[in-house]
Amino acid sequence: MQVARVRKAAGKTGHAAAEPPAPVIADAAGLRRRLVRWYARAKRDLPWRRSRDPYAVWVSEVMLQQTQVERVKEFYRRFMARFPTVRELATAREADVLKHWEGLGYYRRARQLHAAAQAVVADHAAEFPRTVAGLLGLPGIGRYTAGAIASIAFDLPAPIVEANSRRVLARLAGHDEPVGGTGDEPIWELAAAVVPRKGAGVFNQALMDLGAMVCTPDRPLCGGCPLAGDCAAHAAGRVAEIPVMAAARAPKQIRETAVVTRHGDRVLLVCRGPGEWWEGLWDFPREPHGAAGESIGHVRYGVTHHRIECAVVQRRVTRAATPAAESRWVSIAALESLAMTAPGRRIAALVADQPGDHQRATVSRGQRAANRLGRLRGGG
Ligand code: SF4
Repeated sequence: MQVARVRKAAGKTGHAAAEPPAPVIADAAGLRRRLVRWYARAKRDLPWRRSRDPYAVWVSEVMLQQTQVERVKEFYRRFMARFPTVRELATAREADVLKHWEGLGYYRRARQLHAAAQAVVADHAAEFPRTVAGLLGLPGIGRYTAGAIASIAFDLPAPIVEANSRRVLARLAGHDEPVGGTGDEPIWELAAAVVPRKGAGVFNQALMDLGAMVCTPDRPLCGGCPLAGDCAAHAAGRVAEIPVMAAARAPKQIRETAVVTRHGDRVLLVCRGPGEWWEGLWDFPREPHGAAGESIGHVRYGVTHHRIECAVVQRRVTRAATPAAESRWVSIAALESLAMTAPGRRIAALVADQPGDHQRATVSRGQRAANRLGRLRGGG
């Protein structure tokens, strides 16, 4: 039984070098065999795995960035039913693409997907480049996505590093330096060293599945792990300590007020502009925290490392002013069909719970009648 080990870094003099030791895996060939054998019987049945079409691989990989697998499944089916080929995505209106992305969050991914589809059609005759370098030239395609498409769709020996494979590789090699950001460089080198010349797509997916199903962040199932004999962290009893994550950025707290300007059954929306979060999506305008209006609730949401506490106020107006270029009046019934930001959608739900002008008139007539009755009874 071969055990993976950490290579001791040594300079030419034989003294330990100042650089942290580069992680290595001793028996890469045996590890590949064991992992792929395990994958053949244990792999997850995921809708995007039924195709090796680079377009399908790419869409699924982009959706899977920052979104859980279970949640992606339904969005993936819907998206692929609407945009089954790269040409159909390239020629779609951006608002339509964003609408089909709604609920997945991180809309920048959808916009880049759209832009990259247009680049594939315009510059590559609707064929995906068949090299990692070519894939990296497309908008929004980074090292991980390029590696995933190259290995899964084209079976090129391209490494991948994402949260699951990074954890598995760091543990296998007993790599106890901080990972994340530039700290991932040694893991990329390790991934490149272990990826096979043939069958790279299967190997990469197996690594990710092992991380998702066995080598989980908390309480990994080392007892049932096909790579337990290869694993330095397991051998050293240090599984709980590895990987060491680089310190996360402290969250930034923001307070703001969303203003629902309402004229009858219409509300005023603003389209988020270039450089703003959720560019191209509709939302309710924001004002500094404490802005005046009738309070109708609160929403809390997070964007990157920001934690936002948003008060929602309503202002009813009797005259619908001509909206600015990036704004428009929308009937409350039509909000459902618009591509909206995640907090905008939640604010829309608060708006829908408010009585309309007709109901308010009925309520106030009823209230006036009740007051009159009370005065008569009380002799007032
Ligand atoms: S033995 Fe444990 S820590 Fe090592 S790869 Fe397997 S599940 Fe992960």
